[in-house]
Amino acid sequence: MPTLQKTAICSNSKYAFGLTKFKNMKTSAEVSLHIPPKMWSEFRDSMLKSRMFNEEVIGFFFCQRHQVFKNKIRYIPKTWVVPSSDCYEHQSMNGLVLKQHFHSYLLENHLQEGLDVIHIHTHAGQDIPDFSCIDDRYESEYARFLTSDFPKKPRLISGVFDEDLQSCQFRIWDRKGKKFESVKLCHSLFHISENREIMDNTDLMFARQQIFGEANQKQLNQLKVALIGCGGIGSIFAELLGRLGVKNWVLIDPDKLETVNLNRMPGATQEMVEQQWHKVHYVKHLIKRIYREGSCVKTIPTSIESELAKPEIATCDLIVVATDNHLSRKTAQELALKYMRPLVCLGTHIDVKPDKTPRMYCRVTVPPLGGGWCLMCGNIINLQLAALESAPSDIHQMAAGAGYLEGVNDPAVFWLNSICASTGVGVIHGMVSGFLNVDSGIDWIYEFPGSDWRKTNTKYFRTDDCYFCS
Ligand SMILES: [Zn+2]
Ligand SMILES: [Zn+2]
Repeated sequence: MPTLQKTAICSNSKYAFGLTKFKNMKTSAEVSLHIPPKMWSEFRDSMLKSRMFNEEVIGFFFCQRHQVFKNKIRYIPKTWVVPSSDCYEHQSMNGLVLKQHFHSYLLENHLQEGLDVIHIHTHAGQDIPDFSCIDDRYESEYARFLTSDFPKKPRLISGVFDEDLQSCQFRIWDRKGKKFESVKLCHSLFHISENREIMDNTDLMFARQQIFGEANQKQLNQLKVALIGCGGIGSIFAELLGRLGVKNWVLIDPDKLETVNLNRMPGATQEMVEQQWHKVHYVKHLIKRIYREGSCVKTIPTSIESELAKPEIATCDLIVVATDNHLSRKTAQELALKYMRPLVCLGTHIDVKPDKTPRMYCRVTVPPLGGGWCLMCGNIINLQLAALESAPSDIHQMAAGAGYLEGVNDPAVFWLNSICASTGVGVIHGMVSGFLNVDSGIDWIYEFPGSDWRKTNTKYFRTDDCYFCS
């Protein structure tokens, strides 16, 4: 990340215009800021390095705003900048001033994209810090400056931390710089809302999982998962993650149940096939069987490329893709990068060696959220195949005839799909509980009958010039 030079922040009374009181806005919306753990630790290290002792320091995030619901807004940082110590004109325990150029640098390089701005600075001491009246004045003026000088009128969010960058307060300013409302910081990709309670009966239902903690269970209960592909892997995955506690789902799959699916879809019946159930409705049925009440399942019987599907995916905390084609995986990865949502990719493959013995694989891949590598540059999906899959159906058929595509009726068995789905659920449990670090991404491949889990060293996936994730 670049570290450069410039502007005044939290010192002296340079802004002595006659603002009287700043009011808290009536909380019209719940605003949260989600800084992924790895990004936060890099930012924090960089902040701590940019000073000698406990002088005040400042850093900036540039964020995408997501209107999740009418009354729920989520901010996800795209990038950050921490000025190095030589960017300060003045830096002490009582305040700081950045050099003028740094200010222009930020405006020119980051504000043009229409991202909202976060200012984070520290105050000396280890108590929970308060914004000072100098902060109030400076930020108020800055909020108005952003509104008047930039066509997209970016909003200002500000945070003040103690000197160790542990305790903090955050707030978001209105465009007139008159009022602000508080913002909740989450060092997690996921969000726990405070005004929803677990129902008593679910407490008992999850009694055997208490060892993972109440907060963990609560987070699972509130997690909203987009499942793309409700077939042989997706359906088992939904059953397992549903039983772990996930109640909120967006299900996407254009297909209907067919007899050929019945070897591997739990609870699917010939009657459902005869009644032409969509797979999304069948998986919804699985979830509703787990939760008599309190679950929320949205079904979208289209492909992920549909414009109907995308806004729904944007509302989810996590995207899981379990389809059998490259195009939908590519689209899922693009959406995950766009919305900065974690992506979990599940797949199995069976082939037969020349000596007629089968080889079976399952693969669980989680690309890192902050960039580094993705399904495309990690070669986990094939872009040529994705392009072919997006071609009109006659070209598609021709290519299939010419032997470029895998067969639609690839071999698939329930038990192998179950290993894959179970492992995917375990990975998500680990991400939510924090017992599994996915900051650098994971790519695990299980091989049977050798019974080896191979973990790709994701270091080799890292690339600096990926069209999709750089
Ligand atoms: Zn301050
Ligand atoms: Zn990439």
